[in-house]
Amino acid sequence: SKLQEIDRKHILHPTTVPSVNAQEGPKIIFSRGEGVRVRDINEKNYIDGVSMLWNVNVGHGNEELASAAYEQMTAFAYGSQFYGFSNEPAIKLAEKLGEWAPGDLNNVFYTSGGSESNDTAFKLARFYWQKKGFTNKKIIISLTRGYHGVTVGAQRATGIEAFRDFSGSGDPNIYNAKAHLTNAEKGDTSDQNYASSVRSMIEELGSEQVAAVILEPIQGAGGVHMPPDGYLEAIRQLCDEKSVLMISDEIICGFGRTGKNFGVDHWGVIPDMICFAKGITSGYFPLGGVLMSDAIKSTIDQHEDVLAHGFTYSGHPSACAVGLKNLEILERENILENVISMEKVLTDGLKYLENKHKYVTKIRNKGLLAGFELMKDPENGIPFESPIQASSKLVEKCLSHHLIIRPFDFEEGMNIIAIAPPLIINEKEINEIIDIIDTSLTELESEWND
Ligand code: PLP
Repeated sequence: SKLQEIDRKHILHPTTVPSVNAQEGPKIIFSRGEGVRVRDINEKNYIDGVSMLWNVNVGHGNEELASAAYEQMTAFAYGSQFYGFSNEPAIKLAEKLGEWAPGDLNNVFYTSGGSESNDTAFKLARFYWQKKGFTNKKIIISLTRGYHGVTVGAQRATGIEAFRDFSGSGDPNIYNAKAHLTNAEKGDTSDQNYASSVRSMIEELGSEQVAAVILEPIQGAGGVHMPPDGYLEAIRQLCDEKSVLMISDEIICGFGRTGKNFGVDHWGVIPDMICFAKGITSGYFPLGGVLMSDAIKSTIDQHEDVLAHGFTYSGHPSACAVGLKNLEILERENILENVISMEKVLTDGLKYLENKHKYVTKIRNKGLLAGFELMKDPENGIPFESPIQASSKLVEKCLSHHLIIRPFDFEEGMNIIAIAPPLIINEKEINEIIDIIDTSLTELESEWND
């Protein structure tokens, strides 16, 4: 089509292989959405099994969110938070966020997205320590397989090689520790992975140099990895022991995705900062932010020079009005309760797939954040060899049956599938997703059996 041709010629797409897009153009051009379904310009319908980019949490086509944007835009579309200015939606949303957040994370710095939020958290953490008189605390530690975005700080924090090193732009003061070594984080030096733990990294670099540890409560774009029991608690204790701030990247997990307000709430852990984006507006408007404790806010408040950080769209009134309405919908419609009941349906569906299909393994989910793996021989831990690209094949096959899910295969032998549907999904729709994956796997199996 003409649209496809313009796209092919003139748009550089994020996280795609440029040469493929330059040759083929986009696969689907969307034009409408309703609930868990989206439609393309050729009137083909799909089930959105990943809420687009894990963000369309209240589903597509929500008129209340559209009206909230319309009303705010006609009243006062845009105004900044610079020069002593503010606006009502930004203020009301700040108050509401404090109610949603754990502990005393009652304070917010607004951004327009996830990467900006993480870079903001890194700067504020370093700045906080400077104000406390620790001018050397600059290092940020993150985890392998963590995904924190693509700005120069967030890029380096991302523990996925292609992103971390892309174009050689990353902030050199950010280090990756190996993910999820519970015993090592607790101080067990006999753990064989101790040397690559967050704990040993802090000790080796010197805690007087380390500002913060950032991690996702459940890793998302690294392939949906759950932390082992006690891990987040161990990181919290470690950060307290070493005087290092704990930053929870809740850009996927926040606002009900896992069945709680925030991912850390599953473990009763209160970080010093929470980064949010995506689900705050269900993707209807670009908005993000950093929530921080009263202690951090009050230390920064004593600063007498300009806080030389901020975005044109920090506290964007229309974005905040949509965020506020989105939280109101989540509360009023008891959407977190739906997530908890649908978690069971999704778990049963994943178990069914694992029992029926010999290549399906390592199913996992919390709330409506789920993943599973494809392996050639799960019992003996043998992966598919790379030419097979099993997860991409499955995703393609599902797409041909009108279901959108997402593959993760950025490492040799890795074949992970993510499922993260809108939080308003019902039982019938989850079963539809499972049925399509089931059919698609059956169709592929004859190929893979050879
Ligand atoms: N952090 C996490 C956990 C994410 O999943 C993402 C995006 O997928 C980001 C940060 C980056 O957010 P953005 O793409 O809005 O910059």
